[in-house]
Amino acid sequence: MSRICSSRYVKNNDIRYGLKVAHRDPQSSKVIGLQCRFCIAFGREEKLGSKRKVATTVQGWSHPFRYDNIENHLRNHHSGQWALY
Ligand SMILES: [Zn+2]
Repeated sequence: MSRICSSRYVKNNDIRYGLKVAHRDPQSSKVIGLQCRFCIAFGREEKLGSKRKVATTVQGWSHPFRYDNIENHLRNHHSGQWALY
């Protein structure tokens, strides 16, 4: 079994990054999917004045988790909420 310490699920990061557990492996009950709570609660911060509908896609990540990517998403799409969080 390969073991990638840097990208395994870190429970404390759920709070740190506002993540929601979306999927668990039914057999091992390991977390295999995460969703962004900011996307769920607020939607992405789209540019104002756009005629296009606001994207309602919730950002999700699957195992192995790259927490640097997750942090980038927060900075890019939820910079307001992330700063307050
Ligand atoms: Zn998000």
